[in-house]
Amino acid sequence: MTPLERALHERIKSEGPITVEAYMEACNSYYYATRDPLGARGDFTTAPEISQMFGEIVGAALADCWVRAGSPQDAVYAELGPGRGTLASDALRVMRNVGFSGEVHFVETSPVLREAQRAALPDADWHESVDELPDKPLLLVASEFLDALPIRQQVNGVERRVVIAAGGLAFDRDGDIVESSPARDEAVAAIARRLASDGGVALVIDYGHSHSAPGDTLQAVRRHGYSPVLANPGEQDLTSHVDFESLARSAREAGASVTPLVSQEEWLNALGIGQRAAALATANPERADELADAVQRLTGGDEMGDLFKVIAIHAPGWPAPPGFE
Ligand code: SAH
Repeated sequence: MTPLERALHERIKSEGPITVEAYMEACNSYYYATRDPLGARGDFTTAPEISQMFGEIVGAALADCWVRAGSPQDAVYAELGPGRGTLASDALRVMRNVGFSGEVHFVETSPVLREAQRAALPDADWHESVDELPDKPLLLVASEFLDALPIRQQVNGVERRVVIAAGGLAFDRDGDIVESSPARDEAVAAIARRLASDGGVALVIDYGHSHSAPGDTLQAVRRHGYSPVLANPGEQDLTSHVDFESLARSAREAGASVTPLVSQEEWLNALGIGQRAAALATANPERADELADAVQRLTGGDEMGDLFKVIAIHAPGWPAPPGFE
C-alpha cells in the first residue's frame, strides 16, 4: 500500500465513503507536494517541456496584448501551476525583449515545484491562491493547471463516492456520469474578477472539450502511461477533461470578456510556430530534426494539437490577445 492509500483507508473507516472530489483532491495534493512529475524520468511531459517555442509564443501573445494596452508599467506576469518554471522563463525572455519589466508572481502549492521554479526565476513571488495575486493588471498563464483541480462525479444525480470493498478502494456506483468542478469554476471566476477590476489578460491552455457533455473523463497517468484511477493513490497524476463551455460561462458571469476557443494546433499555427521553427533551424541546423519533431508533437492532430485547446479571458477594456480570430 502507498502511504496515502493507508491514510485513505483509515479516513474512510472513520468518516465513511469519500466523494470523488475529496479523493482527487487528497491524491493530487500528496502527489504534487512530494515530487517533480515532469519529463522523461517523471510521469508526463507538458507542452513547455517539449520545446522552448511553446513558451516563446505564449510570451509573444502576452507581450502583444500588453503593448496594445499601452504598456502599463504596473502590469505583472502571473502563472498558475508553473511546473519547473520553463514556460515562464521562455515567455519572459520574449516579453523582456519588448520592454516588459514587471514583477513575476506564481500560484503554486507544491514545495518541491516551488524550489524548481526558484532555480529558474529567483526573483518571483509565490502565492497559495489566485486571490493572493497583487491588485495590478495581470498577464496570466495557466497551462495544464485546471485539469489537475478536483472534479465531482454524479451518477443519476447522486454523488459518486470511493469506498473500501474486498480490502481495496472501489467506486460505490457506476452508470452514466456527469462531471462538474466547483474548484475550477471558482479558480476561473477569481481570475475573471481580478481581470475585470484591475485589467489584464489570461491565457488558459489545457486539454478538454468545447461543450459540456456527460461522460467519465477522470484519468490517471503514471510513467507516461494510463493507470487505473484508484490504483497507487498519491503516486500518479489524476486529471480530467476541462469543460471549456463551463469555464467561459464562469468567466463571463464574473465580468470578464472571453475569446472563442481554438485548438492548440490552430493557435500555434496562427502565431507562427512554423516560422519560429524555421528561424531556429536556420540558426541551429543540427537541431532541425528535433524542431520538426517538436512542432509535430505540439500541433499534430493525433498528438496534442486537437485535444489541447486555448482560450483567453480578458478585461473588457483590454484588447483580446492574437490567435483567436
Ligand atoms: N504548467 C506546467 C505544469 C503543469 S502540472 C507545465 O505546463 O509544464 C500542474 C501544476 O499545477 C504543478 O506545478 C502543480 O504543482 C500545480 N498545482 C496543482 N494543483 C494546484 C493547486 N491546487 N494550487 C496551486 N498549484 C497547483
